[in-house]
Amino acid sequence: MSVPQVALARPPRQSGRVRHVGAWLGAGWLVVVVLLSLTVQWWSSWGVNQQDITDVLKGPSAAHWLGTDDLGRDVLTRLFASGATTIGTALLAVAVAFAIGVPVALIAAEREGWSEKGLSRVAEILLSLPSTVVLLAVVGVFGTRLAIVMTVLGVLLSAAVYRVMLGSARSAHRELYVDAARVDGLTVWRVNLRHIVPTLLPTIAVQASLLFAVSLLIESGLAFLGFGPSPPAPSWGAMIALASTNIYGDPWLMVPTGLVLALTVMSANAIGDGLGRRARQGAQALPAASEAVARSTAASSDARDEGLARDGEDSILWASDLVVSVEGGPDLVTGVSLALPPGRVLGLVGESGCGKTMTALALLGLCPPGVRVTSGSVGVAGQAMDSLSEKGRRQVLGRVISYVSQEPTVALDPMFSVGYQLTQPIRRMRGVSRSEARVIAADLLARVGIVDPRLVLKRYPHQLSGGMAQRVAIALALSGSPQILVADEPTTALDVTVQAELLSLFRSLVADTALAIMLVTHDLGVVADVCDDVAVMYAGQVVERGTVREVLDRPRHPYTQALLSADPHVANADGPPTRLPTIAGQVPPPEAWTPHCRFAPRCEHARAACAVPVALVRQGDVLVRCVRSAELDEARHPVGAHVNDGGARGDH
Ligand code: SF4
Repeated sequence: MSVPQVALARPPRQSGRVRHVGAWLGAGWLVVVVLLSLTVQWWSSWGVNQQDITDVLKGPSAAHWLGTDDLGRDVLTRLFASGATTIGTALLAVAVAFAIGVPVALIAAEREGWSEKGLSRVAEILLSLPSTVVLLAVVGVFGTRLAIVMTVLGVLLSAAVYRVMLGSARSAHRELYVDAARVDGLTVWRVNLRHIVPTLLPTIAVQASLLFAVSLLIESGLAFLGFGPSPPAPSWGAMIALASTNIYGDPWLMVPTGLVLALTVMSANAIGDGLGRRARQGAQALPAASEAVARSTAASSDARDEGLARDGEDSILWASDLVVSVEGGPDLVTGVSLALPPGRVLGLVGESGCGKTMTALALLGLCPPGVRVTSGSVGVAGQAMDSLSEKGRRQVLGRVISYVSQEPTVALDPMFSVGYQLTQPIRRMRGVSRSEARVIAADLLARVGIVDPRLVLKRYPHQLSGGMAQRVAIALALSGSPQILVADEPTTALDVTVQAELLSLFRSLVADTALAIMLVTHDLGVVADVCDDVAVMYAGQVVERGTVREVLDRPRHPYTQALLSADPHVANADGPPTRLPTIAGQVPPPEAWTPHCRFAPRCEHARAACAVPVALVRQGDVLVRCVRSAELDEARHPVGAHVNDGGARGDH
């Protein structure tokens, strides 16, 4: 027999009220058993091992409510006398299983890669071991010392716990509020304790109750086979074994001994069922995990932007020749160089799948599992991020650079109030008392436009509207007084009015605090409204970069021109709404990227001359990745054509 794998199986159809009552009855039965067991010497007139050989194997009577065994001992007294030991040793196995399984699962979920693979292989080995044989071997070495035997059982069960917890922990790691906590600079273990473990608690409760039932049966099974407490000490398994030897002559003895074990196992299962229902209800109440973080956008190829590292000298955030790749797979972002000076807003714009979000996550050091920065460098406030230790990186995250995600309700931990979620990072990053942190939190909420901060501090994320939740998320991002804010589509999920209010908020934050903002968006209208600079991304590359005025007034790259033509805010800005042109085709997947111009299959200006690797080169005041940009610009602006480097001179 191998260690049983306990999982959250779908329960039989049963009303919630019945399960609720069953769980309470089960818990009540366990409490009664333990209390009666611990007080047996006070309520029973019989000694646990007191014999009366004139009154053996008798049924229920006034003197012996549950009868007597083969030595005339009172069955009721012996059953309850052994209850605490039986339940206690079963709990010991469960405690050991979770003490090992949960931390190891957290480590594996955090590190992944070879650590996770190695730990999972060890778990598989433990799961494949025949637990009964192992336990009998332990009994052979250590004797019937239940504490040791059940500890070993706990070690075996920890593999099953690990498997279940690993899946739950991985899911929790994909939550945006976990990323937000990392950006706040929390250590790995604080993130786990504060955000991952609470999400595991319902699963832990359910699994613990079910594993308790399993341990109880295994412990009783060992006692049944004679490997339990040494006689004359009572145990449920030994009493069932005695009843089974007298099953034909005196079948009554099997009734109380079997019933007490069956009731206890059923109680554990009822508790597990009740807790499972609560866990499922909780899971349904929680917002679905955002796919934004795990989204693997565009992919691969070669051409590296060149000569832009010098932009980093006066920039508070810069990326130089950044390459982000799937481990063992294609590149998702290639050769991206960006620069964000203090007090400016840089828009990162493009269609879905162009690598905008992946670039932003790479700047924050928050690449999804299986994705990593394979080349290039990122600098924040004069420090190269790859040169920082883990502790140094935590000092930067939250205090220097912070993050606002697309989905505010999933960026906030649903288990904690707004007040708790705001005051914790404020206390940690600003070193203030709880009361001071609450005042600062209220000020932050007021600053982001919340009318009644004290009321909102008491609320939970699910009690907030989308706009209010996004304001709270922005306040959370500002809790460490960062100099840089990376905002990933922060207004996409909001209605137009709230969107306008938040864009106004961003403008005022930049004006009042010299905050530098990197705004990831697909909306050129948002770029035109709030950004100073813009980088247009296509298929993992920056294809055009410059000031908003230059790029939007005089787009050089055919993709930028197509985006502008298809944008309702920009195209219809000066007149009545008209039918908008669309960009034919779609962004190619990373596997289809070539060393040549990646926009060529969709570009109406593509020629044979485009079938060459295309670098990002300076043209006027912008950088463009198009071999025909000068020629096309000349045709579009024949009179006003100014400095034109012909797309042949790189910005080296
Ligand atoms: S290089 Fe050629 S195909 Fe590519 S965007 Fe420019 S004109 Fe179009």
